[in-house]
Amino acid sequence: MNRSMPQMDSRWASWLRVFRFSAPPKEKPAREDGGLTAWCEETSNGLALPELARKVRVVWNSRMQTTAGRAWWPDRTIELNPKLRNCEAEELWRTLKHELAHLIAYERCGRRHIDPHGNEWQAACADLGIPGEKPFHTLPFKRRRMKRNHAYICPNCLCVIHRVRPIQRTVACYDCCRKFNHGSYHERFKLMKHKPLA
Ligand SMILES: [Zn+2]
Ligand SMILES: [Zn+2]
Repeated sequence: MNRSMPQMDSRWASWLRVFRFSAPPKEKPAREDGGLTAWCEETSNGLALPELARKVRVVWNSRMQTTAGRAWWPDRTIELNPKLRNCEAEELWRTLKHELAHLIAYERCGRRHIDPHGNEWQAACADLGIPGEKPFHTLPFKRRRMKRNHAYICPNCLCVIHRVRPIQRTVACYDCCRKFNHGSYHERFKLMKHKPLA
């Protein structure tokens, strides 16, 4: 009998939850650097990557500890450690190019999974004038106590959410479940850990 189906659906829905995207937790907003953003924009245009040019943003994130820079894709955001301002200008530019190379590599490969510091990234580094760039920097940044932020991404629409606490339950993207599965949980839209490219 078909009638029993909706009941079953709701029982399943009670422990496999659909996750609604909401505003990220309140924290000090990262400050965008207009000049560096403009440079990345121009460089991306020069490499015939118009979408990257349109969306790329460079921000200073004062919560960063030992990492000099990191990049987020598909957000197309580069975060820089403000301590870089106390380093040689050359260090700042090298870090910026290292991070932009991550975005260029992903932009060129679309959703295909690539090794963060693999061939595609190395080719992008060469395009930016830093051939032979190493995966890890050696800037002497000291660590202090760190408040972690947890980010998750929907594998389908690539929406990203941020949480102060890790999500314990199995959750899926609200928008995609609503759009493609009548609002019920579906494995295909299960949120995954979203990690930055450092
Ligand atoms: Zn989604
Ligand atoms: Zn890297």
